[in-house]
Amino acid sequence: MAASINQSTVINNIEFAQKALEIHGIIPLLQFSRLRDLLAGQEGELDCRLSGGKDANNSAYLQLEAKGTLPLMCQRCLQPFDFDIDIDVRYRIVRDETQMPAPEDESDDEDFLLSQTEMPVLGLVEDELLLALPIAPKHEDDSCVDASGGVNADAYKKPNPFARLEALKSK
Ligand SMILES: [Zn+2]
Repeated sequence: MAASINQSTVINNIEFAQKALEIHGIIPLLQFSRLRDLLAGQEGELDCRLSGGKDANNSAYLQLEAKGTLPLMCQRCLQPFDFDIDIDVRYRIVRDETQMPAPEDESDDEDFLLSQTEMPVLGLVEDELLLALPIAPKHEDDSCVDASGGVNADAYKKPNPFARLEALKSK
């Protein structure tokens, strides 16, 4: 039986891994307080699954999978668009920071987590979400309004009359 994830779910991550536990949840995007401010809308949810286990080297790990669609604002045409999230990441759990590789030795396909007796699950998911977000979200080129003229042309023209007004006022 997979227990469910909610806002207050905390796990003992090393025990969770050693017992090969698994939790699952459909999390409304609004519950991610840091992410919320970056969204173009309030709708949407994320399908999350966290499972634990031990790898061939007997190292405890957590595996996080999260899928969903985030409403983001296109920075080019200022229209909302759907950004698909598909996270699948494995963390090796280490007892302390000395077991983590130096930043220059880190490999892309391995992440590390410190062992924690009370790890907030949503916090981990949100960290990954924030990492997965583009710095300047944009439509794919052919779907952006900017490509065809449209709404975006106005968005660019708007500042100009005001700028001229300011110039007149200051005379
Ligand atoms: Zn766009």
